[in-house]
Amino acid sequence: MDLSERIKDVEDRITSACKRCGRNREDVRIVAVTKYVSLSLTEQIVEAGFHHVGENRWQDAKAKWEALSDRVTWHFIGHLQTNKVKDVVGKFAYIHSVDRLNLAAEISRKAMEFGVVARIFLQVNVSGEDTKYGVAPEGLFELAESVKSLPGIEVLGLMTMAPHENDPERTRPVFRRLRELRDELNDAKLFPYPLVELSMGMSNDFEVAIEEGATWVRLGSVLLPYEG
Ligand SMILES: *Cc1c(COP(=O)(O)O)cnc(C)c1O
Repeated sequence: MDLSERIKDVEDRITSACKRCGRNREDVRIVAVTKYVSLSLTEQIVEAGFHHVGENRWQDAKAKWEALSDRVTWHFIGHLQTNKVKDVVGKFAYIHSVDRLNLAAEISRKAMEFGVVARIFLQVNVSGEDTKYGVAPEGLFELAESVKSLPGIEVLGLMTMAPHENDPERTRPVFRRLRELRDELNDAKLFPYPLVELSMGMSNDFEVAIEEGATWVRLGSVLLPYEG
């Protein structure tokens, strides 16, 4: 499939998933994950109308960021070390991977220093796999409680990564649990505003994630084939 066929295929699948669960197509947005592809392919996906682009390392994103920064809203989706926060805040409008207080505190400090607001997601390790980052569900309320008072940060919602499953249906409980956790935070009125966003679903499982309430799906290989 060429790029336009891939885009059409993904669009059809998202539309069908929305229909199946009675959601509006506009309520599901796509982060095009370009971490495996060249600047040239990244340019093509932006030209095709994808203005939200995700990367998970600043070193890999730098050349693309420099070439495309004004045409793209950047999402940082990878694990973030505290000493790399200075490279990310201000360049990436959204940070999907905030999973500990010292990271949030550093993001807050840099956001204040640079005069920006960092829009963040709290990453939750719902599945409990050792290989996954994220706060444990039991620690989420405490983290949220501490993060909410930090200046320069706007918490948009929650993010998770499901285990890779050959049958994506098996990821459903993970996505459902993330939605419930968001609803529990809202019921507890932890934030002065409701958390709306759920960043969940990747190439292998985005349709199930949409059925469970994803508002942002992060799509790499299904849109942008690995060029290596
Ligand atoms: C790489 C990556 C994606 C996209 O993965 P695909 O399976 O290629 O769609 C999404 N989210 C995160 C956090 C990633 O690191």
